[in-house]
Amino acid sequence: MSSNQPGFRLPVLGEDAGIDIDAELRKLDEEAAQTAAVGGGLKVDTEHWYDAMVDPQFKKSQRGDTTLLVSGLTAAHDYLVKAAMTGLGYKVEVIDAPDNDALRYGKEFGNRGQCNPTYFTVGNLVKFLTERGRRDRLGARDMVDKYVFLTAGACGPCRFGMYATEYRKALRDAGFDGFRVMLFQQKGGLKQATGDDAGLEMNPKFFLGLLKAIIAGDVINGMGYRMRPYELEAGATDRALAKTKLWVHDALVNHTSVLAALVRGRRELGRIRCDWTRPAPRVSIIGEFWAMTTEGDGNYQLQRFLESEGAECDIQFVTNWLLFMLWEGRYDTKLRAELRGVDNARKGLGKVDIGKKLAMLFVADLAIRGAFHLFGACVGFRGYHLPDMDEIAETAHRYYNNNVRGGEGHMEVGKFILNVLHNKVHMTLSVKPFGCMPSSGVSDGVQSMITGLYPQSIFCAIETSGDGKVNVQSRVQMYLFKARQAAQKEYAEALAQFGVTAEQVRAFFDAHPGWASGLHRAPHAAGGTAADRLHEVAAFIGKSPAGVARLRARRLASQAIAAARALPGRLARMRAKLMEKSPILVQRAKEEWNDARPILAERAKARVSQVAETVVRLGRPPAAPSAPAHAAA
Ligand code: SF4
Repeated sequence: MSSNQPGFRLPVLGEDAGIDIDAELRKLDEEAAQTAAVGGGLKVDTEHWYDAMVDPQFKKSQRGDTTLLVSGLTAAHDYLVKAAMTGLGYKVEVIDAPDNDALRYGKEFGNRGQCNPTYFTVGNLVKFLTERGRRDRLGARDMVDKYVFLTAGACGPCRFGMYATEYRKALRDAGFDGFRVMLFQQKGGLKQATGDDAGLEMNPKFFLGLLKAIIAGDVINGMGYRMRPYELEAGATDRALAKTKLWVHDALVNHTSVLAALVRGRRELGRIRCDWTRPAPRVSIIGEFWAMTTEGDGNYQLQRFLESEGAECDIQFVTNWLLFMLWEGRYDTKLRAELRGVDNARKGLGKVDIGKKLAMLFVADLAIRGAFHLFGACVGFRGYHLPDMDEIAETAHRYYNNNVRGGEGHMEVGKFILNVLHNKVHMTLSVKPFGCMPSSGVSDGVQSMITGLYPQSIFCAIETSGDGKVNVQSRVQMYLFKARQAAQKEYAEALAQFGVTAEQVRAFFDAHPGWASGLHRAPHAAGGTAADRLHEVAAFIGKSPAGVARLRARRLASQAIAAARALPGRLARMRAKLMEKSPILVQRAKEEWNDARPILAERAKARVSQVAETVVRLGRPPAAPSAPAHAAA
């Protein structure tokens, strides 16, 4: 029986299936010879199907009538990114945070078995296009021509790497075939028309504008989460933040100073009165990036829910994600450096100057941290420590391999452990989207082991599926009950330790508005903000104004002495880190120093002899006046 006859089946080993193998092979040879004779060798006339949506064309000439749609981060970030791009001459519109309707669109048009953020974000775009088309009476073709969607993408090991395909599938099935989704690849720029015809100009101005928008969004959000739980007048923080965002927005559009806009916002925020004697439980929100960042139904408005329950949210910033990507670059470069010559993979280092690459990554890390602190200082967001990515990686690596990169990688594990070890918060809340591969492994697997190792921790993992709001919120409430008790106990113990009452603390803040300002941040001493502030001011309570001033001066002096004593150790640690992070930078600095040293020594010598000459000249007795000629005569 021939293999193309009905009823054919492959033989089981040892069984005679009645196939004449030699005849089959002869037939194949004949068919191949025929194809070669007709088609001229291997040249077969095949027209491959090509998906035009894979290569979206957004051209310069289309800019005037094309609107770029942005979405995906927090409301503040999206708003400021829109401003930055408007300032560069693009027409931009923000799509609101995805809601449950977006999820329904996503599930209707997306593939089965995706993770929840895929459904939310893809569905949000389909929903926008459908509703906008209906509102403006535009057909699908017009919508495809009029709009372009710009979003982040990656080739990540989890479903993040398949977002582009998901967008294409859902848009096509929803009737928007050919819609242009421009994926801003995390590591590789943007896929679009190239050269002078590129619709989006990926120049330094573009990146600088995005960076400013992201960092400004971070510090503005940070101020909100810091102050809202303690404000005495409900809504005061949000009103001040709305003004601040508007000023920063206008600065980005009009190319005026973003820093000045933030300073203006600080003045507004500085007027808000807060009650720092309320021991609110501080909750660190970690988990999958999108699920912990969104402010909509994607996490059941988790941040606002926690605040409505009296908690203070400790959120993760987008800047942290940028720092994580730089860490990835450094870590991988160091590992791949040992494979040079044998590593021919796409990311192999080949002839790359490794020292230069490490130096650039190191400088980028420094620049981002510097910009964050500068923006933070302007708006009043002081005293925040951006995470040390090496510390997180080292802390986590025993429990989660640093080379496993899906989702947040090892960050979730490292952050949780550090929260407990350094008593940073009262509770850690991990957000795991339904269907998320990496987050399931971490939240359900690894973190369970970590809670066993640190039984004092309060850890709550939640799963967001879009339809479990009540269950999730009641679960969070249960854990919050414990966290609230921990915060109250901590505060009561601090009052007892310093021998003061809550009324005395309140009276002190009333009398010293500088210490009660929301722009001020007390040094970290406990899990909660109220306890931190109490530790800072307890020693001043009951003292006269002169006593407060004296004590303050003494404290400042002892802090300065302690800082001076710690300086050599700090410098040594910094040097070791520098050597590790960027040996070439240190090497170059050394060479520069060796070149500059003799010149500086020469200059110093010349200066010293100049001064010595001046001293000698000044010290010489004035010359006696010469005798008049007539006297001599
Ligand atoms: S980390 Fe999880 S939720 Fe996020 S894209 Fe990957 S699989 Fe989806």
